[in-house]
Amino acid sequence: MQITFYGAAREVTGSCELLEIGNQRILIDCGMFQGSDFNEGKNSDPLPFDPKSLTAVIVTHAHLDHVGRLPLLIRGGYTGHFYATPATIELAELILDDALEIMTYNHRKFSSPILYDTTDIAGVMQSFKPVDYYEPFVIPAETCLPAGRAGIQVAADSRVRGNDSGAVTVKFHEAGHIFGSVFVEITAEGKKVVFSGDIGNVDVPILRDTDPMPSGVDAVVCESTYGDRMHEKETERRQILEETITAGIKNGGIVMIPSFSLERTQELLYDLNELIDRQKRLPRVPIFLDSPLAIGATKVYRKYTQYYDDEAERLLRAGDDLFQFPGLSMTMTREESKKINFVPGAKIIIAGAGMMNGGRIVHHALRYLSDPKNTLLIIGYQAHGTLGRQILEGNTPVTIMGERVAVRCHVKAVGAFSAHGDQEKLMDWIAGGDTLPKKVYLNHGEPLASDALQKRLTDELGVKTTVVDKNLTVKV
Ligand code: ZN
Repeated sequence: MQITFYGAAREVTGSCELLEIGNQRILIDCGMFQGSDFNEGKNSDPLPFDPKSLTAVIVTHAHLDHVGRLPLLIRGGYTGHFYATPATIELAELILDDALEIMTYNHRKFSSPILYDTTDIAGVMQSFKPVDYYEPFVIPAETCLPAGRAGIQVAADSRVRGNDSGAVTVKFHEAGHIFGSVFVEITAEGKKVVFSGDIGNVDVPILRDTDPMPSGVDAVVCESTYGDRMHEKETERRQILEETITAGIKNGGIVMIPSFSLERTQELLYDLNELIDRQKRLPRVPIFLDSPLAIGATKVYRKYTQYYDDEAERLLRAGDDLFQFPGLSMTMTREESKKINFVPGAKIIIAGAGMMNGGRIVHHALRYLSDPKNTLLIIGYQAHGTLGRQILEGNTPVTIMGERVAVRCHVKAVGAFSAHGDQEKLMDWIAGGDTLPKKVYLNHGEPLASDALQKRLTDELGVKTTVVDKNLTVKV
């Protein structure tokens, strides 16, 4: 078997790997590249493979950098299935609809390209096959048609056949990264490979912990977003949140929190629910969840409570509404969003996009960044080139929607909210099975981060580790 890396190579977006086993061509994720522009130019390049030749597509989780180009596969003639957990499927629809809306808006404003339309998204949604955690399914060799149509059946009715020559067995494990996220174990030709998707942080609210590495793994493709960094301890995050908000709203300040609509926002709501409703540690100020996408995603969280960790399940059973508390308003429409400006005094605004490269947060940033009374609390990864990254690196003034804006507000970043594990977590995950993987391929990281993790894996664990380049093909 062989793996080719078509995206997220020495960068953190555009995840897309092709696994070839005999005449099977299985794609793992097909995400959007994101940089200073929401939809970076290279998303418009022709796909480096023929979508018609694919026999299956596996989707690890619903982040845009993992699902954002799935509709291009339909547009390119792919007629097989997309395999994902039920929660990922519902979240993916929200993400793709939102992406189309942003692309349409950017097209009107800046003539930037629109990659696909509602028909392509509908094609993706119709082709999804829900598969739950720990339910192995088979992509049988005999039903694989190299010319394109993938006559693939999920093995819910046909148990996994151990010695089916050429068959590919797939199993989803908990990645603990966002709701519904998986890492993927694939067994074929007597070999086993693991694709990490993205690996979550430790002790994340709501989510279950990342499952351990399976044993007997020949190769792991592992993300390395924070391969060079250590987060604050998870116990400190609520404290930092409390201190930052308390200081931020003093004297009528406004706290802006750019937040990824999936996971980070729900975790933030979960922590605010704890601090405001249960522990009464924060003063009551208006809090706005100003993101239709986040509001929609929160509904999915309410639906699949079987994926909650023990603590969230306990609170749920005790009758606590995890995502609603006094003072919280969810502003769905543009009109409701605009009215936030007229709410006097201290307030907290949670809005997307998480890297400030689009979405409603940009409008709030334009209005509030230059007032020293205000605070910008950054809780997620800021990719190179994004507005969030520019501010985080101390640049001022910055350009927002064509206007120069001085950054005079407080800027605070908290790594403990990251949806990605830090260097220690990734080391622990890779080394956490009964046996060490024989090889590790690092992707989904900027060069410094991937290189630092490679060094530790090589020096401390003695695992052969490669930082992958774009279009690199490796044999397993
Ligand atoms: Zn992700």
